[in-house]
Amino acid sequence: QRVKWVIGNWKMHGRLAENAALLQAVADGASAIGNSIRMAVCVPTPYLAQAQALLSGKPLAWGVQDISPYTHGAYTGEVAAEMAGEFGATLAIVGHSERRAYHAESSELVAAKARRALEADLTPIVCIGETLDEREAGTTESVVGAQLDAVLKLLSVEEAGRIVVAYEPVWAIGTGRSATAEQAQEVHAFLRARLAQKDASLTRVPLLYGGSVKPENALALFGQADIDGGLIGGASLKSEDFLAICEQA
Ligand code: 13P
Repeated sequence: QRVKWVIGNWKMHGRLAENAALLQAVADGASAIGNSIRMAVCVPTPYLAQAQALLSGKPLAWGVQDISPYTHGAYTGEVAAEMAGEFGATLAIVGHSERRAYHAESSELVAAKARRALEADLTPIVCIGETLDEREAGTTESVVGAQLDAVLKLLSVEEAGRIVVAYEPVWAIGTGRSATAEQAQEVHAFLRARLAQKDASLTRVPLLYGGSVKPENALALFGQADIDGGLIGGASLKSEDFLAICEQA
């Protein structure tokens, strides 16, 4: 039995005062839920210190939403995985569709970021997913398969065993239109099989679903055989909604 994960992705939301209330409420809820699931929030980078101050010792991990593929250097504006680690981050989202779309990130770059995260002892949450056009053209499996393959190609089996994969269909992100539990399960089963092709041990890699997860649809999604939890955008900004989703994991 694989452990369930629920991870919030705040995206570019928050300010110190509102974060304090949200982090406190989510940490209290996480303490009540306990260690039966893994809970985390990926905050904007400037708020890592705040997350560290408020969440240390609580059953709620924190992480960043992106990292550089490099360790140091003349890369203005970039943040190294080790820098996030110095503030207690244990997770790094890589390859979110918003970065692929607005920052032209290729699957090869996403793979390099995943490897860099692992080298710095951060767990990469590798995001993959098809657009609506790709789904309608019947190419979902080839698109997400290629996105996953790029990462698996760069990593050893041991490294690949330490990643988390998030399937986030682009058409479901921020649209209120979640994939149905059956649609998501179908892709997750495909991804699980793809991981197993690299090595049988990789069937243990957590596969999270993201895209309009809400308290109302979490139970059906999380009940699917190959869905190991969720990556939550909008609903992670409200403690009641985020905790209601966690309770269903
Ligand atoms: P929403 O939950 O707002 O659809 O966002 C999903 C997402 O992109 C999480 O990374």
